[in-house]
Amino acid sequence: SGGSLIAYDQANTNNGNRGHVSHADAITSNSIAHADANTSKKKKVVVLGTGWAGMSFLKNLKNPNYEVEVVSPRNFFVFTPLLPSVTCGKVEARSIVEPIRNIIRKKNIDVSYCEAECIRIDPANKKIYCRNARTSMNANAKRGEEFAVGYDYLIIAVGAQVNTFNTPGVEGNCHFLKEIEDAQKIRRNVIESFEKASLPNLSEEERKKILHFVVVGGGPTGVEFSGELRDFVNQDVLKLYPTVQHLVKITVVEATDHILNMFDKRITKFAEGKFLRDDIDVKLGSMVTKISENEISTREKGSDKPTSMPYGMVLWSTGIGARPLIKEFMKQIGQGNRRALATDEWLRVEGCDSIYALGDCATINQRKVVEDIAEILKRADTDNSGTLTVKKFREVMKDVIARYPQVKIYMESKRVKDFVDILMEAKGKAAKETIELSIEEFKSALSVADSKMKNLPATAQVANQQGAYLAKCFNRMEECEKNPEGPPRFRGTGRHRFQPFRYRHLGQFAPLGGEKTAAQLPGDWVSIGHSSQWLWYSIYASKQVSWRTRALVVSDWIRRFIFGRDASGI
Ligand code: FAD
Repeated sequence: SGGSLIAYDQANTNNGNRGHVSHADAITSNSIAHADANTSKKKKVVVLGTGWAGMSFLKNLKNPNYEVEVVSPRNFFVFTPLLPSVTCGKVEARSIVEPIRNIIRKKNIDVSYCEAECIRIDPANKKIYCRNARTSMNANAKRGEEFAVGYDYLIIAVGAQVNTFNTPGVEGNCHFLKEIEDAQKIRRNVIESFEKASLPNLSEEERKKILHFVVVGGGPTGVEFSGELRDFVNQDVLKLYPTVQHLVKITVVEATDHILNMFDKRITKFAEGKFLRDDIDVKLGSMVTKISENEISTREKGSDKPTSMPYGMVLWSTGIGARPLIKEFMKQIGQGNRRALATDEWLRVEGCDSIYALGDCATINQRKVVEDIAEILKRADTDNSGTLTVKKFREVMKDVIARYPQVKIYMESKRVKDFVDILMEAKGKAAKETIELSIEEFKSALSVADSKMKNLPATAQVANQQGAYLAKCFNRMEECEKNPEGPPRFRGTGRHRFQPFRYRHLGQFAPLGGEKTAAQLPGDWVSIGHSSQWLWYSIYASKQVSWRTRALVVSDWIRRFIFGRDASGI
């Protein structure tokens, strides 16, 4: 897979997606017809997923010489950054979704959509096996009906699922916030909690328990939901449920020492201070060990004594893990010990032919990054002494950052204060600019850094850029075939016809409630307050996938300003 794109074109003939369907037992004759249907000369591209990565790929794909089939159990795209706004009625669910068929309709290329879930990938025969996504809802559909789809190129963009870390009781007692249905369920549950707490014949304790909202995980989603809920309580509950307003309690439980710890320290500090002022209880260094029907058990940092608290509703928002399809596929291709599918910098799945992975289900293998950094270091050692000063190292890091922006994000995010600190840790000395370290020491420190180095964040921004990048590669693939030498600007790497994927970090937001948002923009520029909230409104309005959703979202915001939130439990 180290050759040019032509290399994997050659491995792919059009009949790659025809022929015998191996696990015929499970597959209906219908499905075989489906697999055989692709008799056209066009190369078949199968895209798994209608999320950020898949949608961005589709939107940017312009080459008419492909036959594209999109397979996803969800026939719409969700603008996930606005999901927390749906939980308390600031924005309606339908305003942030766009039917995938609307997106396809506008394309001038051959694209079809199939509402199904991919259950298995067979890279050897270039086929995927799928299951009807609506079997449980549609009484007429045969349960578990499966079919096969052949491909020349497979684009895996299935995202990730909530990670419960196998904590007992999470499944069944907690809400998650990943899909549109989750947000709708939370909204109904929030309203129901207020209605329930307003019933007669309840003791004060019982009302308090019902109105205790717990958020597990102090990341951006947990923090934004807490802010939304606090706004709902302050702005609407006062009018709608005046008798119980004083009983509401919001608690954020975070296992590390700070909330929003992937953000700049100034933001973390401001958010913690704001939550304190807003009466949102933030429990830091508190690890949830179990959740039962009535209470949450936690273990506090530095203490062996377990504690527990009663709750009415819990949102579990602690991070993401691989979907079963991806776990199974990783085992199949020898990546069983990884968190997400490893790809090279061209987004090709390592060890596979013609399969690409992008978005939350994939990660660019950092091993190569570390090798490249070591190579840059070696080149910086111009006098061949085998040593570099820390000062020189800092200069070299500028080169590294220009090549690998994720190294900068990693450094900026203060997960490790400074790369040099790791070096010093490895050397066991205090950081001094003049200390000389051998290249070997730099390299071993780099591998320590590698194990700590954060991959690209699992965000819509990354998924979106990856989708656009891959579509551009596919748009130009034919041109490259006709002109094997390739355009001069892409020569010289000796590895690949296209430049590798480079992520451009455009900044990140953390809405904190009370019309205040924290923004961390490129160049370590931090802005917190009302002005950033307006920036947030304008950016998220501009990033909507269609004029229809843009109009709906903006009108929802205006409606909320004028009339408040809709508190009906539907
Ligand atoms: P997804 O968008 O999750 O899409 C995955 C797609 O694959 C879906 O269509 C799904 O139905 C489909 N699928 C699943 N299983 C299968 C299968 N077996 N076969 C076929 N298809 C399948 N990021 C930001 O940059 N900024 C933010 O402000 C932000 N806020 C967020 C708020 C919330 C509440 C959440 C949950 C996420 C937020 N994110 C944000 C993260 C962002 O949503 C994800 O990083 C992004 O959705 C990843 O895109 P993706 O295409 O990889 O996956």
